[in-house]
Amino acid sequence: MQIKEHLISKTKYKIKCPNLMTVKWIVIHNTANDASAQNEVNYMQSNNNQISYHFAVDDKEIIQALPLNRNGWHAGDGYKENGGNKCGIAIEICYSKSGGDRFLQAEKNAAWLAAKLLKDYEFDITHLKKHQDFANKYCPHRTMDLGWSRFVDMVKKQLQTMKPSSQSGNKQISVSYYPQYKGTSLSFVDALNTLHIDSSKTSRQQIALNNGIIGYSGTAKQNQQLFQLLKQGKLKKEK
Ligand SMILES: [Zn+2]
Repeated sequence: MQIKEHLISKTKYKIKCPNLMTVKWIVIHNTANDASAQNEVNYMQSNNNQISYHFAVDDKEIIQALPLNRNGWHAGDGYKENGGNKCGIAIEICYSKSGGDRFLQAEKNAAWLAAKLLKDYEFDITHLKKHQDFANKYCPHRTMDLGWSRFVDMVKKQLQTMKPSSQSGNKQISVSYYPQYKGTSLSFVDALNTLHIDSSKTSRQQIALNNGIIGYSGTAKQNQQLFQLLKQGKLKKEK
């Protein structure tokens, strides 16, 4: 599936996603509404309520509404340490008010997305949470009515299809490294250029992810971290 990006305007960061986030959880919600993903996102982004989430998913598409390195307001637990708001990527499943086929398909799409995120962040299934795990709210209501463990199984199945074949007994994962940088430049980007490695931001984001830096935004600190690895010949090409 494709993820459509419809990111919130930076002018609304203060209201909708004020803080940088270290992701620990994937938090599942039901909208308790009968609107499409696009309509949900449009509404969320246009109002000034302190309510927000990262993804809305319906039977046809997945829309990303917030950057993944910023927190949303969806879990009803304030800004608690290790909480749902502070550390959770929120997925809203649409059409949960009336249910039916389009809800069931939306759930399937959400299971795929949850599995993809777990995999991207190298989390196991225990990082998959429901809203109710963080606050006294019966959400995701219809998903729970139909059976939470059923949904968890859907995510597990998706995860299996995404795992490399190394799962079947052979746990070896080959790691390759970029060539060691031995020059004198003080800039990570310059060093990449010298080594003829793509230094675009997208490329650096991928490199950062491969090297365990989540939410790379190009800060001096992050670049320094990556640069150190490059100078030691320990900058991973792939996970
Ligand atoms: Zn919820």
